[in-house]
Amino acid sequence: MAERSLRGMSIGAKSLESDDNVDFAARNDVAYVCPKGHRTILPFAEGAEIPEEWECRCGMAARREGDEDREDDEISKPTRTHWDMLLERRTEDELKTLLEKRLQMHRDGWFPDYE
Ligand SMILES: [Zn+2]
Repeated sequence: MAERSLRGMSIGAKSLESDDNVDFAARNDVAYVCPKGHRTILPFAEGAEIPEEWECRCGMAARREGDEDREDDEISKPTRTHWDMLLERRTEDELKTLLEKRLQMHRDGWFPDYE
């Protein structure tokens, strides 16, 4: 009995504490993207000076991701993947053709090393 009421108090105290110290509405999440494509999201307090660049965990300078309509941007334009970049260089049809050629070569036994 005593234990249960103690636990209840400690949970109550914790949630009160976090309500006091963390004001989510007053924070801006700013995303930085480095040349290697790493994305770092940093929470800045409202009114804080937000730098244009941030050092990425890999040591390169990450640029701040577009400031205007930042939230919409994150939803409609996800971070580019290697696959996206590949698709920019080759059309999907070209890739399909390449894959088909490759598969046909396998069927024809063009890769003796693999046997
Ligand atoms: Zn990086």
